[in-house]
Amino acid sequence: MPSDPTSAAVLSPHLWLPFTPNRDFARQPKILAAASGVHYRDTAGRPILDGSSGLFSVAAGHGREEIVRAVATQLEQLDFAPTFYRAHPPGFEAARRLASILPEGLDRVFFVNSGSEAVDSAMKIALAYHRARGEARRTIFVSRERAYHGVNLGGLSLAGIVNNRRAFAGALPGVPLLRHTLLPGQRFVLGEPAEGAELADDLLRIIASHGAENIAAVFVEPIAGSTGVIVPPRGYLQRLREITRAHGILLVFDEVITGFGRTGQAFASQSFGVVPDLLTMAKAITNGVIPAGAVAVDRRIQQTIFDAAPEQQIEFFHGYTTGGHPVAAAAAIATLALYEREKLFERGRALAPYFLERLATLRELPVVADLRGYGLLAGVEFAPDGAPGARGYRLQQTLFDAGLHLKTTGDTAILAPPLVATPAHVDEIVSILRRVLAAER
Ligand code: PLP
Repeated sequence: MPSDPTSAAVLSPHLWLPFTPNRDFARQPKILAAASGVHYRDTAGRPILDGSSGLFSVAAGHGREEIVRAVATQLEQLDFAPTFYRAHPPGFEAARRLASILPEGLDRVFFVNSGSEAVDSAMKIALAYHRARGEARRTIFVSRERAYHGVNLGGLSLAGIVNNRRAFAGALPGVPLLRHTLLPGQRFVLGEPAEGAELADDLLRIIASHGAENIAAVFVEPIAGSTGVIVPPRGYLQRLREITRAHGILLVFDEVITGFGRTGQAFASQSFGVVPDLLTMAKAITNGVIPAGAVAVDRRIQQTIFDAAPEQQIEFFHGYTTGGHPVAAAAAIATLALYEREKLFERGRALAPYFLERLATLRELPVVADLRGYGLLAGVEFAPDGAPGARGYRLQQTLFDAGLHLKTTGDTAILAPPLVATPAHVDEIVSILRRVLAAER
């Protein structure tokens, strides 16, 4: 390791960063060198408050001993095992633990390595299910404007975020999009907006133009996260559930961001009282320490797929070499045990009102155009300054320099502190934001 960690040897041009303007980054690199609790440290050892749980992953805070030990022990015990025609003990245990916190009935778990893989796998499970029921013509997926469902070609075809699709549009199947649910009257509304449940009826328009008998599944993030946090209007998800059920269409909740206590319960499905047919998760499933994701599947869907195949035949031709890796499973078991032992979902729920109230005090700043949030997930939208996204990009750099890491999308900052954050951490987040935003014209 060179003595100066920002030396040219470290800032190697060989590294191509994802979702990053790489050439500008090289001029003003933001390097995370260490982490513990709710802080990162940069290469100079300066603490940087983690306002977005890394990338919505590190719900239990950084450097958790129990997870580190579980990973190390598993590596020594069984470093790799295939999961095609084979299994390993931590795989069963991780699935069992997940089933115990998932909504009732959604207790069959298919492991993958990421949120994007979870979404693509859920799409294939939906198609396999309809085929198994003799409804193979149900191949249309429905998504929603401003959705983010990962970057693989399946999930990208569901994406409503235009920039993510633009360069690849020709390779993507057309997917009908529901209207997004951010209405002009909802500015500065925290929690579930009272108006807008009827936007779910947009699905009836899509059914009318495509035929319910051709539609496989509707994908939604219960709270749209990556686009800048859009909380569903009260009753909206219930309405989507009613319509999908009435028309034999599967409902899929993409809970890659909202899972694991972000909304005050294990999953947003439970916070909003709506049970989907499939639920995708990743990120905080291992507290972010090892790549992992999963699809939770209604047991009746799995049964239907199983019943359609002879017993000695593979029921579902799908899987990844490292999906359900024993080390990821061990990390998930330790993470889920930690969530339970430290009652972190309850802790997040208890902190949420304070978090949202304190953030709401920023609305008086001229640069703050909107504020939205639910649980420990909030979006602070900035008034644009020149090209769309320019201010958001500049501000995430300034905020980092001021000691706060957060994720921005366009001109919106997405706040999602670890569930172990305290009111004092919230105060610090708000005070850094206030100081930096107050200097904006
Ligand atoms: N789905 C949702 C709702 C997400 O927010 C994300 C990532 O932020 C993904 C899928 C993709 O997850 P990954 O980046 O792990 O592939």
